[in-house]
Amino acid sequence: MFHHSRRRLAYWFTISMGGILALFALTLYYIQLREKIRIVDQALYMQSKYVTSKTQYQLQQETWQIEIRDISLQGMKALPLGMEVELAYIRWYDRQGNLLELIGKNTTKQFDAVSKYQTLNPSRSCQSSDRDELVRQLTLPVYYNQVAIGYLQIANSLCSIQKDLAKTQLFLALGVPLTLGLTGLVGWFLGGVAMKPTQKAYEQLQRFTADASHELRAPISAILSNAQVGLLSPADDSNQPRQRLENIVTITKSTSSLISNLLFLARHEGRLNPDDLEAIDLHDLLQSLSSEFQTLATEKNLNFVSDLSPSTVVFKGDRELLQQALKNLINNAYKYTPAGGKVGLTLAIKSRQGIISIEDNGIGIPPDDLPRIFDRFYRVDIARSRETGGFGLGLAIAKQIIQAHNGQITVESSLDKGTKFQIFLPIV
Ligand code: ADP
Repeated sequence: MFHHSRRRLAYWFTISMGGILALFALTLYYIQLREKIRIVDQALYMQSKYVTSKTQYQLQQETWQIEIRDISLQGMKALPLGMEVELAYIRWYDRQGNLLELIGKNTTKQFDAVSKYQTLNPSRSCQSSDRDELVRQLTLPVYYNQVAIGYLQIANSLCSIQKDLAKTQLFLALGVPLTLGLTGLVGWFLGGVAMKPTQKAYEQLQRFTADASHELRAPISAILSNAQVGLLSPADDSNQPRQRLENIVTITKSTSSLISNLLFLARHEGRLNPDDLEAIDLHDLLQSLSSEFQTLATEKNLNFVSDLSPSTVVFKGDRELLQQALKNLINNAYKYTPAGGKVGLTLAIKSRQGIISIEDNGIGIPPDDLPRIFDRFYRVDIARSRETGGFGLGLAIAKQIIQAHNGQITVESSLDKGTKFQIFLPIV
C-alpha cells in the first residue's frame, strides 16, 4: 500500500515539476528566439536606411532608374550599431514588382509587397553547415518627392542564429529528459520521506489494535470458562457458581478498566484544546495528591515522603489529565516497591520549568526494558504485571498526557535499587 502511494507521489511530482520545468525551458527558448529576431529586424531597418541613403533615383523615359554607390554585402557586414549580421541580398523593384537591381544571391521567390518583415526559406544551405538556411527579409516602399517609385528588399541570413538555437535545442533535448529523470528520483526520495511518518503511525495503529484485541480476548475467554464451569456444577452446589460469579466480577472490573484506558488513549491523542486549559498551581495539586497517597502508603506499609518547596508554581493545563498522569506514576511506584520501601514526591523549579519527580527504592527496571517502557502494552514482566493488575498502559497514558501539555517525561532506574520518573512542564 505504502509502496504504491510512494510511486504515485513520485509520478505526480515528476509530471507536475517536469511540466513546470519544460514550460519554463520552452518559454526561455521562445524569449531567446524573439530577442534574436528583434535584433535582426532592427539591423535590417538600419541597413535599409543606409542603403537608401546610398541610392539615387532618376526618371528616364518615364521609368525610374537607380544608381547605387559603394554598396557591397561585405562592406555592410558590421553595419549598423556594430551588429555582426550576414547580409543575404538587397533588391530594388519597380512599382509593378519587377526586379530592377540585385546585390547578393538571387532567389526565385515571388515578390510580395504586402509583408514588412518575413522569415523565408530560400532552399539553400548555410555556408558553415549543411543546415537549410533561413533569411529574414524586410520589404519597404521607396518614395521620391512623396511619390512611390518602387520597393527595396533587404534580407539577412539567420544561419548564425540557427546555429545558436540548434545548440539550445540540443541542450533542451538532453536537459529536459535528464531533469525529468532527476525529478523522478527526487520525487521517489521525497515520497519515501513523506510516507515515513504515516507508515510509522499506521504500523503503530496496527500493533495497538492487535495488542488490544489480544488483551481483550484473554478476559473474555476467562469469563466464558468461569460461566461454563458455574453452569456445569450440580444443582445442590451453591458454592461453586457463587465462586465463579465472583471471578467473573473481578475479571469484568479489570476489563472495564482496560477499556477505559484504551478509550482514554484514543480520546486524548494529539494537542489539547486551548479552551480546556486552566491555570493550575502545581504546588496545590501535588499537596492534595500527597494527602491522598499518604493514607494509601500507611495501608501498604510504605514510607511516603513529599518535598514541595516552591510555594506557587503556576502552569497552564488540564487538571484532570495531569492528575491522572501523576496518579499512574505514583501508583506504579507503590506497586513496584516492596513493603517497608520508600516513595518520594518532589517539586522544583529550574529554567522556567516545573520539575516533578516521583522516586522509589523498589525493584527497578532492567536496562534493556527502559527504552520501551512508555510503549503501549509494554510490561517488563507480564506475569508480575498481571498479578498487580497492569496492562502496560499506565506509562503510555502518562507520557501522552505530558506531551499534550508540551512537557517531557524521563526515567532513570537501576535494578533492585529503585526508579525515578521526572516530569518537566513549562510554567507561566
Ligand atoms: P502496568 O500497568 O503494567 O504497570 P505501566 O505502563 O504503568 O504498566 O508500566 C509498564 C511497566 O513498567 C510495568 O510492567 C513495570 O514492569 C514497569 N514499571 C513502571 N513503573 C515502575 C516502577 N516505579 N518500578 C519498577 N517498574 C516499573
